[in-house]
Amino acid sequence: MRFDIVSVFPEFFSVLDLSLVGKAQERGILDVQSHDLRDWTDDPHRTVDDTPAGGGAGMVMRPDIWGTAIDSLMESSQGRRGSRTILAIPTPSGVPLTQRTCERLAQEASQIIIACGRYEGIDARVSEHYSSVGIEVLEYSLGDYVLNGGEVAAVALVEAVGRLLPGMVGNPESLVEESHGAAGLLEYPVYTRPQTWREQAIPPVLTSGNHGVTARWRRDRAIEKTAARRPDMMRQLDSASLDKLDKRKLASLGWLVPAQADHPVPMNARVARAEDIASVAELAAATFPDAAPDYLSDVSIQAFIAENLTPDTFTTYIHSPDWLTMVLVDPCGRIVGYTLSLVPESDGVAGRDEGAPVDAVVGNKARKGPLVELSKFYIAESWRGSGASTMLFNATRVALLERTGEWEEPYLWLGTNARNKRAQKAYKALGFERVGKRTFTVGEQDNSDVVFARLLRMA
Ligand code: SAM
Repeated sequence: MRFDIVSVFPEFFSVLDLSLVGKAQERGILDVQSHDLRDWTDDPHRTVDDTPAGGGAGMVMRPDIWGTAIDSLMESSQGRRGSRTILAIPTPSGVPLTQRTCERLAQEASQIIIACGRYEGIDARVSEHYSSVGIEVLEYSLGDYVLNGGEVAAVALVEAVGRLLPGMVGNPESLVEESHGAAGLLEYPVYTRPQTWREQAIPPVLTSGNHGVTARWRRDRAIEKTAARRPDMMRQLDSASLDKLDKRKLASLGWLVPAQADHPVPMNARVARAEDIASVAELAAATFPDAAPDYLSDVSIQAFIAENLTPDTFTTYIHSPDWLTMVLVDPCGRIVGYTLSLVPESDGVAGRDEGAPVDAVVGNKARKGPLVELSKFYIAESWRGSGASTMLFNATRVALLERTGEWEEPYLWLGTNARNKRAQKAYKALGFERVGKRTFTVGEQDNSDVVFARLLRMA
């Protein structure tokens, strides 16, 4: 691979004689030549720029000088077998340089000519001309900021492409898990000795010798870092590359992977507001029948909905201090899940007459504080299995903890139909224990419910 870098400051590129790029040059993997653009001028002042056509501040680099320089560098490479020249022009108005582009250049190019602009940049006809004669022109940007010249961007391109060439990096394994690699994630944080530095120890998992646990820990940290720093990368993550534990981690960070979706989507779990009333009532009416056992008649189901799940009842719930309504909202603003909780006053019991497990002991701990009722918990069908219930439940728990204040051991309880095994499994996965039974009336029909409870505070 040969790089020809053209600049008005060719001495800048002595940095490329150092480190890995320098060694690769000595070993013949890379050949980096820097050239002074002024060598192609023909006036005594060695002028490379002129005033901008149409007026304005600054100076623009002349196309005729650049054209002569680029032609002569291309000629010098022509005739070499399999040669493929790419003209790279750094510019803040270019496409962002990515690892994918660097990988492609490392595979395809035999010569990369880098034209470093200065002042207001290079006359636009240079790029247009070489594209029109079939040369690939890559106008690339290092990022959304403006440098004084293209030299730093040229060095970046040489390093980023050069390190992907065979033989360049001693251990090619070190390229595999890097940021912007095939996983589409930023790299996990890395550590080395000393074991403790300024009172900070290396995370114990990394010295445990357990490779599986270490790999999981690293992947979770990579997901966390990417979610926090690069939501744009999260939106591009390939759903097919995510396992169950990845999805759980994503859900804890506010990202869900709905069935059939190619990429994760950012979700928002929040307290319901007045403007949500119609949508929550609609979702409640649509999801309630899903959880009903076969023997319940349509008449009973509709009677229950008409009495308990109307816009009017949700208006009461949303405005009452006794109730907490939480909603899960997709990126388009659609409500795809909700919870409705009844919060008793002080350390009281919500739903005492509805079968609240007043004396149950859960997680070997006796209740010291309020017994909150999770009265409704529904997720739209298309979002089931995406982690939506975990996300909404966690947000509900956090909001309830804020409402229940400083009590030592508040509990949360719920009743669910004894035949609804899917719901029971889901509640167990959310840390609930089965603690009893109750009868629950829908319309005119009695139902056998199982009663679950868990500590509110337990993670
Ligand atoms: N007037 C230009 C504009 O607004 O797009 C900026 C010219 S800049 C002052 C001078 C040169 O610095 C550019 O021609 C380019 O070579 C280089 N440069 C500046 N910012 C860059 C970036 N973010 N990425 C790549 N090259 C950059």
